Formats: sequence, C-alpha cells, structure tokens
Amino acid sequence: MIVAGNWKMYAGPDPAAVAARVGAIGGVDKIVCPPYTGLASCVAAGLATYAQNVHWENEGAYTGEISPRMLLDLGVAGSLVGHSERRQYFGETDAGVARRAKAALEAGLSVIACVGETQEQRDAGDTETVLRIQVDAIGDACGSHERLVLAYEPVWAIGTGLTATPEMVEEAHALIKSLLDVPVLYGGSVKPDNAEVLMGQPSVDGALVGGASLDVESFAAICEAAAR
Ligand code: PEP
Repeated sequence: MIVAGNWKMYAGPDPAAVAARVGAIGGVDKIVCPPYTGLASCVAAGLATYAQNVHWENEGAYTGEISPRMLLDLGVAGSLVGHSERRQYFGETDAGVARRAKAALEAGLSVIACVGETQEQRDAGDTETVLRIQVDAIGDACGSHERLVLAYEPVWAIGTGLTATPEMVEEAHALIKSLLDVPVLYGGSVKPDNAEVLMGQPSVDGALVGGASLDVESFAAICEAAAR
C-alpha cells in the first residue's frame, strides 16, 4: 500500500510533525508532495518526498521548470506527473506527460502518473476510451517500469467532496491494470471516513490524497486505514 499526500500550492503542515506522526505506521509507503519550495524541508525531516511535476530535460532554457537532476540533487525520491490540475490549467498533454514520466524514470526518480476522466467524458460514456488513451501514452513511453505507479483520479472527484463509488473505482482500476501492470492508487476526495472502503477494493494499491493530506491527523488516519 502507498499513500501519497499532494499538498498542491499550499505550504502544508510542518514536515517534522508529519514525520513524527506517520513514521511508525507500518506496512504502507508514505509519501509527501509539497510545492517545490517545501521539498528540502520535507527531505530533511526524513519524509519520502516527491515533487508535483518534473521536466524532461536535465537543464536548458525552460523558464519555470525543474529538472529530474535538480530534484535528485535535493534528495527528492520522485515526482507526480500529469495531475489533472496540470492538464486542465497548464495545457499538459498526454505526450508531454509521457515524456516527463519517461525522463524522470530514466534519471532514477520514481513517478506517480495521474489519469482520469472529466464529468463530461463520464456522462458521454467515454471513460474507458479516455483512460485507454491516457494510460497507453504512459505505457508506450515507460512500460511497466518498477518505479512507475499510476493514480486513477476522476477529475470530477478532485477537491469536490464527490467520491467515485467503490464499484466505479474497481472497474477503472481493473481496466488500467489490464493496460499497464503497475500499482494503481485512487485519488479524489479521499478522507479518513472513506479511505478504508476505497482502499479495500481488490485493484486499489493505495491513495493519492489532496485536501485531507494538509492536516496531519487526517493524513495519518488515511495511512492507518491503508495499513489495515
Ligand atoms: C489530488 O490533489 O490529487 C486530490 C485527489 O485532491 P483531493 O483529495 O482534495 O480531491
């Protein structure tokens, strides 16, 4: 089981407090994804630390971007790629997401690559097609790499309080795993009170948690649910 906390563009909790609270929870890999400015203090606190995005080149004229090598030099272990907020607001494409994931893996980072359909796509019956396109782009570039994890994050469930039903989650995860044989996390309004049932589905290997990871106690409660 893996539980990753995406702090988005929030300063987030005190890394030392997170490390002290979740450090002893066994049987689950706990990861934090702070904004770039919080990476060093999370690493210093001994947390498994991922960036929220990473470029494909190691250096160059790419203003505003951070390279795999820069992250590795900081002691960062991995990166998210393709989060729906990157796709929605910053024009990330399937090809760009695949390129970022491949470069990060080749450099030695771990990767959590996010996929998921919008409400419109689900309503139109296009969920399977969308997931196939997104997963295949990542799979064609990276294969089932040992440091690659996918996160199924239905866009309509992110930060909305709406959660996919366990049946929807299981169906999507089973499809994703049939396309690419890697662990798959669920993300989308995971909270302490729904974490156990969502992570209890057979094809769910953990959770990518946004809002609830900003509070040490709720993040710890989700880690404890994963451990159970
Ligand atoms: C996320 O940011 O990846 C996420 C799933 O957010 P939330 O848990 O707040 O829906």
